Amino acid sequence: MFKLMNFVQPTSIDEAYSILMEKNNNTLIGGSAFLRMGKKRIGTAIELSKLNLRYIREDKDEFEIGAMTTFRDIEIHKELNSYFDGVIGKSLKGIIGIQFRNVVTIGATLFSRYGFSDLITSLLALNVDVNLYKGGRMKLCEFMEKPYEKDMLLSIYIKKDNRKVIYKDIRRSSSDYPILNLSVSKFNNEFKIVIGARPVNAIIAKKSSKFISENPINEENLNKMCQLIEDEVSFGSDMRASALYRREVCKTLLKRAVSEV
Ligand SMILES: Cc1cc2nc3c(=O)[nH]c(=O)nc-3n(C[C@H](O)[C@H](O)[C@H](O)COP(=O)(O)OP(=O)(O)OC[C@H]3O[C@@H](n4cnc5c(N)ncnc54)[C@H](O)[C@@H]3O)c2cc1C
Repeated sequence: MFKLMNFVQPTSIDEAYSILMEKNNNTLIGGSAFLRMGKKRIGTAIELSKLNLRYIREDKDEFEIGAMTTFRDIEIHKELNSYFDGVIGKSLKGIIGIQFRNVVTIGATLFSRYGFSDLITSLLALNVDVNLYKGGRMKLCEFMEKPYEKDMLLSIYIKKDNRKVIYKDIRRSSSDYPILNLSVSKFNNEFKIVIGARPVNAIIAKKSSKFISENPINEENLNKMCQLIEDEVSFGSDMRASALYRREVCKTLLKRAVSEV
């Protein structure tokens, strides 16, 4: 369990950010599910629930989701899940249980860029921007490649482009971390393939996506796509699965996902 030396609940975003930057060990608190598993000694814990960052808004072009919105808020939001074949909600359903998803937040999850994240894998297949206090608005895929810099994630934006999306994962047992997850989207005849929980960060498989966008979907081309995946996506071993197992599972799930899309 972490130790807090001091605890504040700022009422403005500017105040929260300035306290965050005062000392290295000052730390933002989202749902605190992940933080409490560690042993961090936190100077000032900055709890964000008084900043009105728990919301899902929409206009005709996009959804905006505030950083303190919980997984459960997202999972049960009808309008959001009427888009993209409900993929966002579907990618959250395997994570522990409803009580847990009532607590964990989207801001902490995206900012932390966990390699095992189910949500990041599904969002990377969509057109998503993140909005950071200091870093401003940028594409999620750009943010994923940036080196770590202390900042506060305020919200994310999801473009309503009505693409087709499939999400798949595999776990040793329900509620465990995923051994592998992937998502495939198709928009204007362009496929986007995202592979996550490798076990490191999710990435967009650009060569494989381009190949399958430009060729008919048949057994031969699905096999060629899988060869490209081997070239451009690295897989690692950990206590849950070997790199070889992950790679083989990836090929099977990917062929299914592309065919379904
Ligand atoms: C036991 C366990 C099992 C899990 N299993 C899965 C799983 O199978 N699949 C999956 O996808 N995820 C899983 N997760 C991760 C979970 O879904 C959340 O992503 C994670 O708990 C972070 O959310 P939180 O609100 O708890 O963050 P916190 O614990 O509050 O914070 C985590 C980090 O984010 C920082 N932070 C908080 N808010 C912000 C913000 N607005 N801007 C910038 N930084 C911020 C904090 O300072 C901290 O460093 C699991 C987590 C736990 C604890």
